[in-house]
Amino acid sequence: MELENIFGKTLLELTEMVVASGLPKFRGRQIAEWMYKKGVRDFSQMKNLPRELRERLANEWVISRPNKVDELNSADGKTSKFLLEFSDGVGVEAVLMRQPYGNSICISSQAGCNMGCAFCASTLHGMVRNLTAGEMLAQTFYINDRLREIGEKVDTIVIMGSGEPLTNYDNVLKYIRLLHEDYCLGMSYRSITLSTSGIVPNIYRLAAEEIPINLSISLHAPENNLRSMLMPINKKYPMDDVVKAGEDYGNATHRRVTYEYILIDGVNDNIKQAQELVELLKGQLASVNLIPINPVAERGWNRPSSERINAFEGYLSRHHITVTVRREMGKDIQAACGQLRNRHLK
Ligand code: SAH
Repeated sequence: MELENIFGKTLLELTEMVVASGLPKFRGRQIAEWMYKKGVRDFSQMKNLPRELRERLANEWVISRPNKVDELNSADGKTSKFLLEFSDGVGVEAVLMRQPYGNSICISSQAGCNMGCAFCASTLHGMVRNLTAGEMLAQTFYINDRLREIGEKVDTIVIMGSGEPLTNYDNVLKYIRLLHEDYCLGMSYRSITLSTSGIVPNIYRLAAEEIPINLSISLHAPENNLRSMLMPINKKYPMDDVVKAGEDYGNATHRRVTYEYILIDGVNDNIKQAQELVELLKGQLASVNLIPINPVAERGWNRPSSERINAFEGYLSRHHITVTVRREMGKDIQAACGQLRNRHLK
């Protein structure tokens, strides 16, 4: 009989499970706190449970977390990338970025991706499967445990690794709620950011959840033809609908929506395109994050010169668009989505 993995179960689910096997309710919270607060993976270490119960639980359940199969550290020591493998052999990437404001981690929501974006390495081999809430939480725990060894912790989380989180909606929401729970990591919603390619109906759904996480939307082009070429999902959810949904999200949550705009030399980095971008976003509670493209060997596009990057940025800021240029981190360790995983697939 295969043991049930309980890592990623909510307190409610654990309580229902213990009650169903004839135990008092409070055992649910005890197990949740051992598993999440203390990071215990072995029932035998759950000291406030009777020995007989510990043995019984170990016969039915397991607390399974992924193994690290590879790790890359950038030369400046600021970025670390981990390839983590689940019990079915599926691997995903999680990244730690030591930012001036704290430890930020980037989590994958799917193994691979089927959005088909033309510049992205994650989508090259399609999507293998959705990740469960527990698998996203396990990525978080892996890095948090490493940080704990040096007296630190995860401070902010971006759901910006491989995969489209809003096509794995229920698992991603469960993961975000778990992060916030007092029996788990107790993180504030404001320290969590979700990045989407623009799955319009689920942006509205997210806005209605009343959890004030930050939303980033991958825009990458200021008009439909180019955006459809770069991001095929634009044919299903066109740019204007995406921006309208982003505006609604900002109004509902009072959070400033960030539009991610990768800069690709000669493709989307002309001043005319900066003008169009200003027209699209002016007056909105929004900001633009410019990301010089991480060249992916399979695609053959390059990052613009710093003069062109500065010109694009300058145009936006002179026209009252809040704009930042993403600091390049981990360029030397293939930190762009999916690159480490692809190396292992080859
Ligand atoms: N599917 C979601 C989240 C995963 S991608 C989304 O599309 O937002 C996270 C971010 O990395 C997106 O903005 C994506 O466009 C960007 N990205 C993907 N490949 C990249 C590359 N080669 N260089 C720079 N950014 C890239």
